[in-house]
Amino acid sequence: MAENIGVCKLCFESKELRKSHIIPRSYFKHAKSNGQLVWVNEGEELAKLTNSDPKERLLCQSCEQLLSQKYENYGTRIFLDRSKISRCKHDDNLLVFKDYDYLKVFLYLASILWRALVSNRYSNMDLGQFNEMLRQCILKGKICIKACLRLDHFLHIYVCKIRDKSGQITGEQMRRVILDLNVEETRHPGDGIIYYMMLHGFLIVYHCSAVNDIQEKNAKKGIGKLKKKGKMLIEIKDLTDFDVLVRVFNVAVSKRESLKEPK
Ligand SMILES: [Zn+2]
Repeated sequence: MAENIGVCKLCFESKELRKSHIIPRSYFKHAKSNGQLVWVNEGEELAKLTNSDPKERLLCQSCEQLLSQKYENYGTRIFLDRSKISRCKHDDNLLVFKDYDYLKVFLYLASILWRALVSNRYSNMDLGQFNEMLRQCILKGKICIKACLRLDHFLHIYVCKIRDKSGQITGEQMRRVILDLNVEETRHPGDGIIYYMMLHGFLIVYHCSAVNDIQEKNAKKGIGKLKKKGKMLIEIKDLTDFDVLVRVFNVAVSKRESLKEPK
């Protein structure tokens, strides 16, 4: 149908566009498998209980396939099944993420951000020329933009696991809350832009900046930042460490019925 024809955001060809997910469908499937999903959009007063996940006509069928085969199948498995993430034997506050394919995981997480950047739904998110760099890297499956210039020089990705140390919210309840992509204001213009979301109990933070000093100390120790060599330590943080998450979960707790685990 003509109204479904448009320019694909990834290959730029005029084709029939699919209703594309921005946050991969598998997270919604998991969150909904035990009841209703709690979908939280910062800035809105209340968390939404929903059975539908946001979609937008963004990509043609072959680009949908490219994303799912190249990145999503792998990336989602890693975070949902936690096949590569295990408890640290020496420290209860750390998870060990090892033997992962850095390029795939990086581009998988980058592709979620990119979809939001080029969608209408997140009109407050735009990185200008950077959108195009991201598109090319995702399309080609490469992180190198040109000699000496890599995507991960500008885009720094951090992952931490969120736990409620007070025990009010169980791990399973935590995994069923999806915090939509949000923008965090940085203090100085030179600090770059920060986006974050929470999926399956993991807080994913994107820092877009040529200068990377956020958590640099921790990153040096291999904590928090997605590392090129396949091993990183994921810190388990308490909910209360993040003001935004406290607000979000206050809302989620008020919707406690929906968070109830199945009997
Ligand atoms: Zn396409």
